[in-house]
Amino acid sequence: MQKSPESDFLKSLTDPGILYENAPCGYLSFTADGKIVKINQTLLSWLGYDQSEVVNKLFYTDLVSRGGKIYYEMFYMPLLQLQHNVNEINFDFQRFDGSKFPALINSTAFRDSHGKLVAINATVYNITDRKKYERELLEAKKQADAERNRFELLSDLIPEMIFTADASGEINYTNRRFTSFFGLLDGSFSADAILPKIHHQDRFKLFKYWKRAIAIGEEAQIELRLQNQEGTYQWHLVRALPTKGNDGEIEKWMGSCTDINRHITAIQHLDEFISVASHELKTPITSLRASLQLMDRLITQQGEPKLMMLMAQSKKSIEKMNTLVDDLLNTGNIKEGKLVLNIRKFDVSEWLNNTCSHVRLAGRYKLHISCEHGLNVYADEHRIDQVIVNFVNNAIKYAPLSSDIFISAYKDNDQIHVEVKDNGPGIAPDKLPYIFERYFRVSHSGAEYSGLGLGLYICAEIIKRHNGRIGVESNVGEGSKFWFSLPESTPTG
Ligand code: ADP
Repeated sequence: MQKSPESDFLKSLTDPGILYENAPCGYLSFTADGKIVKINQTLLSWLGYDQSEVVNKLFYTDLVSRGGKIYYEMFYMPLLQLQHNVNEINFDFQRFDGSKFPALINSTAFRDSHGKLVAINATVYNITDRKKYERELLEAKKQADAERNRFELLSDLIPEMIFTADASGEINYTNRRFTSFFGLLDGSFSADAILPKIHHQDRFKLFKYWKRAIAIGEEAQIELRLQNQEGTYQWHLVRALPTKGNDGEIEKWMGSCTDINRHITAIQHLDEFISVASHELKTPITSLRASLQLMDRLITQQGEPKLMMLMAQSKKSIEKMNTLVDDLLNTGNIKEGKLVLNIRKFDVSEWLNNTCSHVRLAGRYKLHISCEHGLNVYADEHRIDQVIVNFVNNAIKYAPLSSDIFISAYKDNDQIHVEVKDNGPGIAPDKLPYIFERYFRVSHSGAEYSGLGLGLYICAEIIKRHNGRIGVESNVGEGSKFWFSLPESTPTG
């Protein structure tokens, strides 16, 4: 039977002689005095020799570098005299042309019946590639270390507390400001040492937010009180941002704690002052309003035009003052959870067509109202009207040059969406996230508008209490659109 070329090839793969010569490692046999008696083709080709130039002519030490020779004499041979196997010895082989390559050698010793070493069989692995990978790895590690040092140096320079955490939220780095605030040793962090320094009323809040942020992989931001080394609690804003890999998985968290104590205490003082002032002002304003109403009736009976004009002005001023004081009182009530809602069903179109009568009467601004027919909502009509009036008053105040204000309402799924749009100067994008915060005001270059920065805060709280959503879309130079949406049905369904 004739043999096929494939079967020849398969036989060559398992032929011991061919395997020995062309193995992916070098084979070398030498006598106890180092003379080479056998060498395979793989090793010969790495070394650049012919079989005839090496076997029974060269010694082991002729094939290795100078360092390899010293190693051979001082360690390798003495070890072979003592042991049966000497593994993972690493030194350089030297080629015929003088160049070198790194190798890993495993050796087995053979002895005669008296135990005398007679020969050694060695396998030689060319580890040039491995060394290259090791060098690259080392280089990458060096670069990563340098980057880390740079980051740590920079983070030690800034007056803010900085930390990083692994994907599971475990803190693994804190900067110097952080350790010194908590009185820890440099570079040391222990959750046990930090926990007692977080105000007991804020601990649960922190856990809740942190756990949630890790679960959904989104930025965490929380205000809490931290105890400094003098034992005083100070308000801090803690922020943590996740960094994600290409697969979208969180790799680590970068965080900061900013001291906002002065800001928070200033707001607390302002709150206290406003609460006292608004209560003190409300009573005289109410009696002044009542007196003015009486006087108005008398003056109208007399028909004196000058007095009537002065009366109209006084009434306008007292109403403005009353609205301001109401805003202040509302803020106090909202903060103390005292905002009472009177929920009932009402027709949205009817409500919008009657709202902002003061604007319609004044005649300077035109309200364009578009509303789907038959829309009803369960809400506190008076409070919701307060929101629209605030949006419209702001549009007039901050967009005085655009005489058209657009109000529209429509149904979106089970939500009633209402928006007020102006063609005014708009709001800068960096200010938008804070626009509904208490006392927040944007300075409008050149123009000075009076206000307390409470209107939108009150609107947001009213909408929140209705389980609704509130927002703003604005581009500088293109106007602003303030909106809110309310569930169509009652809050209880
Ligand atoms: P106040 O009007 O008393 O300052 P608000 O809470 O009503 O308080 O508004 C907060 C800030 O939002 C205002 O100071 C103003 O800078 C900005 N703002 C509100 N509405 C508009 C608008 N329609 N166009 C431009 N800026 C606005």
